[in-house]
Amino acid sequence: RLPELHPPATTASERDYTMSDMRLIVAGAGGRMGRALVRAIAESKGAVLAGALEAPGSDLLGKDAGVLAGLPANGIKLSADLWAMSKDADGILDFTVPAATIANVAIAAERGLVHVIGTTGLSGSDNAVIKSVTNRAVVVQSGNMSLGVNLLAAVVKRVAKALDQSFDIEIVETHHRMKVDAPSGTALMLGQAAANGRGVTLDEHSERGRDGITGARRPGNIGFASLRGGTVAGDHSVTFLGPFERLTLSHQAEDRMLFAHGALKAALWAHGKAPGHYSMADVLGLAD
Ligand code: NAP
Repeated sequence: RLPELHPPATTASERDYTMSDMRLIVAGAGGRMGRALVRAIAESKGAVLAGALEAPGSDLLGKDAGVLAGLPANGIKLSADLWAMSKDADGILDFTVPAATIANVAIAAERGLVHVIGTTGLSGSDNAVIKSVTNRAVVVQSGNMSLGVNLLAAVVKRVAKALDQSFDIEIVETHHRMKVDAPSGTALMLGQAAANGRGVTLDEHSERGRDGITGARRPGNIGFASLRGGTVAGDHSVTFLGPFERLTLSHQAEDRMLFAHGALKAALWAHGKAPGHYSMADVLGLAD
């Protein structure tokens, strides 16, 4: 049976704060994902907004997080002081930029917060910093928090294992015009799944950003291409191109509320778990 992704919606009276509610901070509360996260928390049962973090110097500091998210005012004002707002919090949902996420890692670990990291574009050394706290902190990190993409990754791994190197693997992603990193975290996650299926290292078998006289494709490589434009929440396809046939597996995200519900589910799942570095596949019960 597939896990249910969306926490049940609640009525206003059920939404009154209870002691057992998980108190969550939204980092980047003025951003696209941040506003979706504030809405997801307001609609959910079992979680309450405990703080709204924004970048130092942002014009949005002092604004009401509910109003920014298109909801009635909730009295939580955007602030740049994570240490102060996290005094009584249980977790932080972090969809920001790599520098902000890395700055949040130490404070979240010090405060004992569940840290759900959706930020993409993190470097190898950023990921090493995150990993370094997971012996004492609970971190759930995924380049994509949707059920569909995590299922897709599991299928891609199996298909890559079943097909030999006579099948070339190409990953294509499309995102809205404001996205700043490429390839997307999801594309890299799907590439990693394909590399795992083949038993190879992704870093040594990636082809990215082809331009000019590139020479023939190296057998066994995994190719990436990125399209940017419009308001696309996230389209991904993985194509296996073999002799005389091609297989394409794809996913389309229709609304970023999908990722917000996934992040919230991850936080509720991780609350009270032992320190560790968890993925969305762990949350959804899809891990090997
Ligand atoms: P966005 O609209 O640009 O939002 C990012 C927010 O973070 C902005 O409001 C930004 O403020 C804020 N920020 C920057 N520095 C900060 C700091 N030091 N402290 C607190 N907040 C800070 O971007 P988005 O579309 O929401 O995406 C955010 C990230 O989530 C990206 O990496 C994206 O790829 C990723 N994402 C992941 C998933 C997933 O499922 N894992 C899904 C969707 C998006 P300023 O504008 O003032 O700089």
